[in-house]
Amino acid sequence: RQPVAVIGAGVAGLAAAARLAVAGHAVTVFEAGPSFGGKMHQFELPGGYRFDAGPSLFTLPQLVDDVFRLAHRAPADYFRYERLDPITNYFFADGTRLAAWAEAGQFAAEVEEKLGAPAAAVTQFLARSGRAYDATAGTFLHKSLHKAGTYFSPETLKAVGALPALGLLGTMHQRHAKAFADPRLVQLFDRYATYNGSDPYQAPATLSMIPHLEHGIGAFYPVGGIYAIAESLHRLAEEFGVKFRFNEPVEEILVADKHVTGLRTAQDVYDFGQVVSNMDVVPTYRRLLPTQPAPERTLAQPRSSSALIFYWGIAREFPELDLHNIFFSSDYQQEFKAIFEGKTVGDDVTVYVNVTSKKTPADAPAGHENWFVMVNVPHDEGQDWDALTQKTRRLVLTRLSGALGVAIEPLIKAEKIWTPPGIAADTSSFGGALYGSSSNNPLAAFLRHPNFSGRLSGLYFCGGSVHPGGGIPLCLLSAKIVAELIG
Ligand code: FAD
Repeated sequence: RQPVAVIGAGVAGLAAAARLAVAGHAVTVFEAGPSFGGKMHQFELPGGYRFDAGPSLFTLPQLVDDVFRLAHRAPADYFRYERLDPITNYFFADGTRLAAWAEAGQFAAEVEEKLGAPAAAVTQFLARSGRAYDATAGTFLHKSLHKAGTYFSPETLKAVGALPALGLLGTMHQRHAKAFADPRLVQLFDRYATYNGSDPYQAPATLSMIPHLEHGIGAFYPVGGIYAIAESLHRLAEEFGVKFRFNEPVEEILVADKHVTGLRTAQDVYDFGQVVSNMDVVPTYRRLLPTQPAPERTLAQPRSSSALIFYWGIAREFPELDLHNIFFSSDYQQEFKAIFEGKTVGDDVTVYVNVTSKKTPADAPAGHENWFVMVNVPHDEGQDWDALTQKTRRLVLTRLSGALGVAIEPLIKAEKIWTPPGIAADTSSFGGALYGSSSNNPLAAFLRHPNFSGRLSGLYFCGGSVHPGGGIPLCLLSAKIVAELIG
């Protein structure tokens, strides 16, 4: 087994390193930052508030378990999680509140009671979304789509052929507007486009299968918070001998005769015949392979949305909030237009509030809560982020104070803000996009960068900017695909 270098200790880099080490490779992870996790890091604010910095919604936990099972370890010895019920609390612009219960029937009954929309429309929609997931996930998510064997396999043709019968042609919004008469229900299901940073008015209807992940398979909370995922994978990787070189950014991937030969950092030059980049694919080419031809069409794919996040220590408890809370805007179409066409923040925004102290009380002092308050915004293209941050902060405070009936600003005891340029600087994600390229195109799945280089042997890619896409589950699948390609 040849030694392998992994560039970046994001969740995909950690999972790839652990999988490769379990397979018997000598693995070294080079990480630019002081620790592991990437977007999935944690931090504390003065006053005793802990925060997960990035991801908060967690589905398909079995993909984490799979890494421990591969190592013949009991997953629960490393990582435990609970199924959420309710999954999300919704606050609509007209004042209606709705709890999204995990079980489809109970959720549908709540929809009928609170919105007056027929329960059957919801159960039928979720059942269809489950069938669509079963018909397509194996092809589009679990394999390297870019190997001829997958592209032309009978399974792929079957998956593509199944789309019309499942009502999966057109955009996500069109699909939801056809399924539901109540615009609030359309908005609720349209929101799932944001799970990979896309626009429901452009993204293909195939993404309508995302709700199945939550209501069919389940939404989960890792004991101790999302950072526990990174921690558990890091621990397994270390147990299998993976070496971590923190504070050592890779400056160049070395190449001779179309083969990878090693890496250069400020500290040293290292020989490696196999390199896995967990760094965003755009800067991997631009900064680490500046003399190599880059796949320009792939790199030019539109970016996903980014986010403005306000981390607030709040001196009060709100019983009406749960772990996941959504405060919808009154005009979703304008909101997405502002993001994806105007490249700005509109005047009415949807606000997501995540409160981990609801599940992990130690994340905030007694009587307080730790609020992760996020608004979807465009990726960084040089906008005036100081002005946009101030504007968004005002909009958020007005929306939350109105919906909760309490002035929120005086309750903020500690604050930190993460902006798109900050996300880009801290994780090297191009433009601070949360999920690499967007899925605002029916062919997006095919246009993402493959998990290997077609030009340079020994070069592989994992993480949210390459196949199968962004978000924790897909990042974990990218690590699995890479480990299987290397063998
Ligand atoms: P990243 O986390 O991007 O890490 C890459 C690592 O590579 C970093 O540690 C970086 O320092 C390192 N690196 C970069 N360049 C170099 C170099 N030259 N040398 C060495 N190291 C380098 N996903 C969900 O599933 N659910 C959510 O709710 C969710 N919400 C999100 C909210 C926010 C605010 C953010 C930011 C993201 C969210 N995501 C969510 C997306 C999810 O966090 C990402 O898809 C995932 O964590 C990306 O992991 P990754 O493996 O691609 O690596």
